[in-house]
Amino acid sequence: MLVGNPPVRGGVPRVNDLAPHEPYGASADPVDPGSRTLEAIVPLLATCPPSTVEPGPLALLGAGVEVPTDRGVAVPYANFDVAASAPCARAAADAVNALLPYYASVHRGAGALSQRCTLAYEQARQVVGDFLGCGPEHAVVFTRNTTDATNLLARALPPGTTVVTFAGEHHANLLPWPDAVRLPLPDGPAAAVAAVDAALAGLGAGTTLVAVTGASNVTGELWPVRQLAEVAHRYGARVALDAAQLAAHRPVNVSELDVDYVVLSGHKLYAPFGAGVLAGRCDWLDAAPPYLRGGGATKHVGDAPGDVRWHTGPARHEAGTPNLLGAVALAAVCAALEAADRDALAAREDSLLDRLRQGLDAIPGIQQLSLFGPDHPRVGIVSFVVDGQDSATVAARLSTRHGIGVRDGLFCAHPLTRHLLPARGTALRASLGLGTTTTDVDRLVSALTEQVRVRAGGCADAAPRTTAPGRRSQPVG
Ligand code: PLP
Repeated sequence: MLVGNPPVRGGVPRVNDLAPHEPYGASADPVDPGSRTLEAIVPLLATCPPSTVEPGPLALLGAGVEVPTDRGVAVPYANFDVAASAPCARAAADAVNALLPYYASVHRGAGALSQRCTLAYEQARQVVGDFLGCGPEHAVVFTRNTTDATNLLARALPPGTTVVTFAGEHHANLLPWPDAVRLPLPDGPAAAVAAVDAALAGLGAGTTLVAVTGASNVTGELWPVRQLAEVAHRYGARVALDAAQLAAHRPVNVSELDVDYVVLSGHKLYAPFGAGVLAGRCDWLDAAPPYLRGGGATKHVGDAPGDVRWHTGPARHEAGTPNLLGAVALAAVCAALEAADRDALAAREDSLLDRLRQGLDAIPGIQQLSLFGPDHPRVGIVSFVVDGQDSATVAARLSTRHGIGVRDGLFCAHPLTRHLLPARGTALRASLGLGTTTTDVDRLVSALTEQVRVRAGGCADAAPRTTAPGRRSQPVG
C-alpha cells in the first residue's frame, strides 16, 4: 500500500487531490468510478514492453510504450501532455549514461574524476548559454526549473524595482514578483504592446522589469516578445522572458529577441526533471544577495557570523552540490536541438497542430480557447472544452478507454484560463511535441468524437462543422 495513496477520480489517480484545491466547477460524471486504483495501475504500467528508441539524438525514450485500457487491451500511449513534461530525448540519456561511470564531486575535488565532472558541468553551462545566444555580459545559472529561476530573479531585483506583467502568465511568472503591476489580458499582440507602453509611461523613472511569456501554456499563442522588448528598452526597462513553453518549439536567442533574462525548464525540453536555467545580465545577479547561502557560493567565510564574501557569477546563486546530471542532460538536448533543422521541426509540428485543430473544430460541442484569435500563430498546444462535459471526466476517459494522456484543469494559469472559459469549470489541453504522430492526432480526434457521441446518446453523428482554422507558424518577435 502506498503511503498517502491519492484518491481516484474518474478512474485515474489524481495526485493533486492530495492537496486542497478550489472546486473544479461542473459536477463530476465519473467513468467507472472506483474500479481502478493507483496500486492497480502502477504494476500494469510496469509490465509494459520496453520502449523502442530510433537512432538520433532527438529520438524520445518511451516511444511506443503501451498502457492498459479498460477494454482489456494495451495500446501505445498517445502522449498529449508534453507541455507539462516532455519525454526524455536520447541525447539526454546518452549524456547521462556517458557520465555516470565518472560520477564524482563538482567544484570540490582535486581528483581526476572530480575534475572531469567539474569540466562537464561548466561545459554544460557553456552549451546552454550558446543555445540561448548569451554573451560575456550574461550569466547562466542552473536552477531546479522555471519556477525556481523566476523566483531567483525576483530575489535579485534591485530594491524598488517595479515588475510589469500580464494576467495571462503562468503562475511561475505571476506570483514570484513582489507588488507587480498586473496588466489586464490584451485581445491581441498590438494591444499587449500598447498596454506595456502605457504602463511604462505611467511609471516614469525607476527600475522596471517587464516579465512576459514567449508562448502561452494555455493557448500556445506566441506573444510579441521582440516588440515588447523594444518598448520596454525605450523606457529603460528590462525584459524577462518565460521560455518554458517556447524553447521546445522555437529557437530562443536573447540577442535576437533583445531580452535581458530568460528562464526555462529542462523537463519541458526533452531532458529529465530537476534542472532549469536563468540566463541573463550579470549586474543585478552579481549585486543581489545569494539565492541560496552555503558552500560553493563563498570566496571567504570568517570567524564572525557576518564575515562572508560571496562569489560573483553563477556560483553566487548555486550554493550546495549542483545537479550535474541534470545540467549535462539539458545541455545535450540543447546541442541536439541546435544541430537540428528547427524550421523543419516547427513545420512538422504546425501540420500536426492544424490536423488536430481541424479535427476538434469538426466535433460538435468542442470549443477551442484563444486569447488572440484562432488564426494567431501558436506552438503545439490547444486547450478546449467539451460542451456539457466535465473536463476531468473526459480526460479520465481518454486515458482509461483510449490510452491517451491529456491535461485538464486551469493549467497553473488560473486568471487566463478562467477568462477564456465559456462557463465555469475547467478545460482540457492537448500539447504536441517531437514524438507526436498523425496516428496519435487521429486517435485523439476519434476518441473525442466517440466521447461526444456517447454523451449525446448516439445522436452526435450530426454533420461535422467544416470551417477549418488556418494557421501558419511565424517567427517569434
Ligand atoms: N512558465 C510556463 C509558460 C509554463 O508552462 C510552466 C509550466 O508548465 C512554467 C512556467 C513552470 O515550469 P516549471 O514547473 O518547470 O517550473
